[in-house]
Amino acid sequence: MSQNSSTASKRISTYLMMIVLIVLALSIVSLLLSVNAFIAGNQMLAGFLLVIGFIAMSLSIYVLLQSRKRAASMKIEAPKVMTTIECKKCNFKSVREFQRGDFVFKDLDPCQKCNEKMLITAIYKEVKEKEKTYRF
Ligand SMILES: [Zn+2]
Repeated sequence: MSQNSSTASKRISTYLMMIVLIVLALSIVSLLLSVNAFIAGNQMLAGFLLVIGFIAMSLSIYVLLQSRKRAASMKIEAPKVMTTIECKKCNFKSVREFQRGDFVFKDLDPCQKCNEKMLITAIYKEVKEKEKTYRF
């Protein structure tokens, strides 16, 4: 499930990157055309192309920076690894965040209820399906 959505978002970002690169290329073309028009003496056209070129360039750079920021925030939101601890005697169960050195069937502190040693029974990734919003 989560793998599917991550490949989908990757596909969207490559698609977005292509659009950004096309817009960036067009903005460079329009800046070059603006220089051409200026040399040819057509200052109206030169100014027009200059403005379009700058708007397109700043837009594409803005989108590029935004998508980078989003990629960085995605990394931070990595799924948490959880450890399930159980007492075999009284079936007391607790879940906490994974700690370094945890492994399945590791003995831990005595149970809160019956003082029997508790055991790690599962280590798993907590998957949260968060709302995904794409802003373009
Ligand atoms: Zn117990």
